[in-house]
Amino acid sequence: MEYYAVTFLLTYIALVVIIMTRYVVIAGAVHYALWMRDEAKIKAPRLSRHAPTRKVVRHEITLSLISAFIYAAPGALLIEMWERGGTAIYQGAITTPAGWGYALFSGALYLFLHDTYFYWTHRVMHMPRFYKATHAGHHKSKQPTPWASFSFDPLEAVISAWFLPALALFIPIHVGVVLVLLSIMTMNAVFNHAGREIYPARWINGRFGKVFITATHHNKHHTRFTGNYGLYFRFWDYAMGTDRGDA
Ligand SMILES: [Zn+2]
Ligand SMILES: [Zn+2]
Repeated sequence: MEYYAVTFLLTYIALVVIIMTRYVVIAGAVHYALWMRDEAKIKAPRLSRHAPTRKVVRHEITLSLISAFIYAAPGALLIEMWERGGTAIYQGAITTPAGWGYALFSGALYLFLHDTYFYWTHRVMHMPRFYKATHAGHHKSKQPTPWASFSFDPLEAVISAWFLPALALFIPIHVGVVLVLLSIMTMNAVFNHAGREIYPARWINGRFGKVFITATHHNKHHTRFTGNYGLYFRFWDYAMGTDRGDA
């Protein structure tokens, strides 16, 4: 028992450090590239009227670092269970077309389920009775910056952190797909809060922008507050009549 507690604690501490480092490096790099260089050199159009203020950035970083402690807990538990063969995560070379087909399918399925879970919990957190305790912290950023990508109130982090590790107990997924998904999630969160649109206008106005959530889409959630609740795809916003993307 004691042995399990010690290895869990070590995994947990390592994961906190990894999550924080990933956040600081990626959000920092995007913040530098989009907001700290010479304005003439930055091609991505501004969505925010004002440049990020120190106060907002400080708030976003504080909540994000606290979130890392919360996200690391179910993540560490999953890693510990994986090492003992208790999860649906598999490894080894993928050599057959069916193997690749399933890898792609499982990745898409995880994204869809995560998007679905996010959309509905996000809507519930916007209900007045839950809002202050769960989601007000994220919306302190009226004009978000890349640092807002992980800035959730502790309760919101608790609500969202367990979902993907729990899926990995039941729906088979290759460890390589897990790493790809983690990268997509991080980049998606940073770019959607960047305060500038990094994708070309023809993508935003074309099929890409109709299907996927971009900074143009998510910025409207922060400035208008209602609508555009999705995470990766506009599917649920369209289906439930909450899409404000083109207005
Ligand atoms: Zn919200
Ligand atoms: Zn946001």
